[in-house]
Amino acid sequence: MAENLFIDTRGACAEGVAFTEAVVNGLAQGGGLYVPTAIPKMEIDEICDLAHVPYAQRASRVYRAFGIDLPEAEIDALCERAYGDNFDDERVAPVISLDDSTHILELWHGPTSAFKDMALQCLPLFFSASARKLRAEGKLGVEHMILVATSGDTGKAALAGFSGVEGVSIGVMYPDGGVSDIQFKQMATQRGDNVVVWGVAGNFDDCQTGAKNVFKDGAFADRLEADYGIALSSANSINWGRLMPQIVYYVSAYAELVAKGALRAGDEVDVCVPTGNFGNILAAYYAKRMGCPIRMLLCASNENRVLTDFINTGTYDISERPFVKTPTPSMDILVSSNLERQLFELTGRDSDAIRGWMEDLATEKRFRIDRDTFQAVRAHLVADSVDNETCLDAIRDAYERYDYLMDPHTAVAYKAACNLRSDDVPVIIASTAHWAKFGDNVYRALHGLKPTDPLPADVAALTGCQLNALIASETGGSDVPMGLAELDGLPIRFTEVIEGGAERIEEALVEYLSKR
Ligand SMILES: *Cc1c(COP(=O)(O)O)cnc(C)c1O
Repeated sequence: MAENLFIDTRGACAEGVAFTEAVVNGLAQGGGLYVPTAIPKMEIDEICDLAHVPYAQRASRVYRAFGIDLPEAEIDALCERAYGDNFDDERVAPVISLDDSTHILELWHGPTSAFKDMALQCLPLFFSASARKLRAEGKLGVEHMILVATSGDTGKAALAGFSGVEGVSIGVMYPDGGVSDIQFKQMATQRGDNVVVWGVAGNFDDCQTGAKNVFKDGAFADRLEADYGIALSSANSINWGRLMPQIVYYVSAYAELVAKGALRAGDEVDVCVPTGNFGNILAAYYAKRMGCPIRMLLCASNENRVLTDFINTGTYDISERPFVKTPTPSMDILVSSNLERQLFELTGRDSDAIRGWMEDLATEKRFRIDRDTFQAVRAHLVADSVDNETCLDAIRDAYERYDYLMDPHTAVAYKAACNLRSDDVPVIIASTAHWAKFGDNVYRALHGLKPTDPLPADVAALTGCQLNALIASETGGSDVPMGLAELDGLPIRFTEVIEGGAERIEEALVEYLSKR
């Protein structure tokens, strides 16, 4: 495709910007999200042909179809680097069939064993290349420091993705005492000269509010630019550069299923996705728009079921909704940012409607879509939520039935797929984390404990690595990925804990930048 431009969901940059600018800007002016002006189409033959090339080439074919403003050879080279031997399976995103019509798309073979790697092994390379291009064109005079507040998983995936990438550095803040032993060690042992990690006294909200206030501090931004030539960026999941890599694996999975005879070319499949910020399931929607024969998108929620209720009623309402803790922390979310893109597409790109709804959400904590849009939602999406206890039961059920061990997030999707699928259409279930990232709840599931039950004292005393080794031996042959198994043996590099609050975070940033 010729160069595609990126417009925004709230109608602030109707003339559009190039891919490289959309990636470096992250959020569009006016607070909207970037979407491509044109959604490319792939013929069914082109899709099926992807099965015969390595994953990196599947990615570059899809990216090129989107008409991004980097040379084709550079796109190819970046994809080779993003999806190479940093993954522990050469298929990168393999599809495992539990039975003839139930397929698991494993998205956790990257270096941090979480699905965020699928995007975050790739985005940093495109971010760096985009910034280099804009600097060469005189459109950008600074380098970037990425600042991430994490409740656990995103932080490590972002560190691993940006570590060693040219012209960018990254700082990650997590709530001190609020992440698991595995998550802490994954972050605190991160290698690389361009990374720094801080614990923050307080909870995740304190981290996130602190980060937001740093981003809003104009005087601090001026100082960073003047003294260090640095601009802050967030590279969070609303960046188009994080969404695009996720489209690839749905098209790739379809091609694989045809190649292994589980589907005939053109047969429809359903896709079931454990959903939080709506990025992953939105990528499946774009894959469908590109021509991948996806029938329905099955949206799986945990007890924070705002999306399930929205898809079933047309009203998005967080006005009186409590925030519930679940065994699936990466889906514990009330405001699902990427839904804005989905609604933009389903209204036929009506930015006035989107602006109105987002205003309602900000002021009244709820919005209601019109009848036509609701019908469009129902034409693509169905939804169900899975409570905490049922989630752990599902892990055990899948293990007993198929000898397949899954993490709690995957189990939510597995259970929702059981409830929502129709008999005659095969389903692809997105598996978003390796079980060993959530060993405590996997242990509970296998031993018939409830989500709120304490672990037995001898088990609770184990490190995360030891607990995973125990589960692996009990289940016989459920391997723990190297990156998780080796954590107890790696040197801890980062132990600093800072007070929350923008001022202390800013001091810590300056201290890091001045020592570089
Ligand atoms: C981020 C994440 C999700 C949610 O994905 P979204 O794109 O935010 O909907 C689900 N499972 C795991 C393990 C995750 O890390």
